[in-house]
Amino acid sequence: MKAAGVIRAGAPVRCDQLAAVRFSYVGFDGAVHDDGEIIVMAAVAQPVREIFDTLRRRRFPLARARSIEHYRGDDAASMADNNTSGFNDRPLTGGGLPSLHAYGLAIDINPLQNPYIAFDRDGLARYSPPQGARFANRRNDRPGKPCRPGMAEDVVTLFAQHGFTVWGGDWDAPIDYQHFQVDRPLAQRLAQLPESAARDLFERERLRGNANGRDKDRSKLDAGKTCMPAKTQ
Ligand SMILES: [Zn+2]
Repeated sequence: MKAAGVIRAGAPVRCDQLAAVRFSYVGFDGAVHDDGEIIVMAAVAQPVREIFDTLRRRRFPLARARSIEHYRGDDAASMADNNTSGFNDRPLTGGGLPSLHAYGLAIDINPLQNPYIAFDRDGLARYSPPQGARFANRRNDRPGKPCRPGMAEDVVTLFAQHGFTVWGGDWDAPIDYQHFQVDRPLAQRLAQLPESAARDLFERERLRGNANGRDKDRSKLDAGKTCMPAKTQ
């Protein structure tokens, strides 16, 4: 990954702490595509696989899912391509701490349908990707309008149940609808542990979170129903 310019010296995880999860997914064309790939921390590869298997079963569509290497680590290019992605060694947008993507513990889905929105001092919104402004209105039950598949609101609970408890759509500024992550203190602990110990810790925390029912209030957002792509194969 170093060769592709994706991982740098001083990154919070080593290459050997990462794994590629390959999966098939339903595209916006309604067809099943077999070329899904996402790079995540190896310790969470199994729950991540379960997330994407569930998305396929629910026919929640993804535009594409290629590793960030395909874009030479260029997040803007990946977003512009509406690419679903995981690991990327980069600082938080706006600088400072490493992004949870640099741990392989954050996943961005369908950036077009789920844009990143930053605000300037005058409150003007900047959408990334810019075409994502079409999805500024997050409601899907708008009278007389078709529902729009692929929006993150449909899968907030699914991600939380698999340990990705933080959703950027809950933030105020910026708002990051495409972004799901593990909470940062847990990520920092996972990065320090050998893979099997990290896997056990993640599973314990995941079960504890589910037992606490921290996402019950999401049931209205995500009742397991999903807006379908218009065409099916
Ligand atoms: Zn993200």
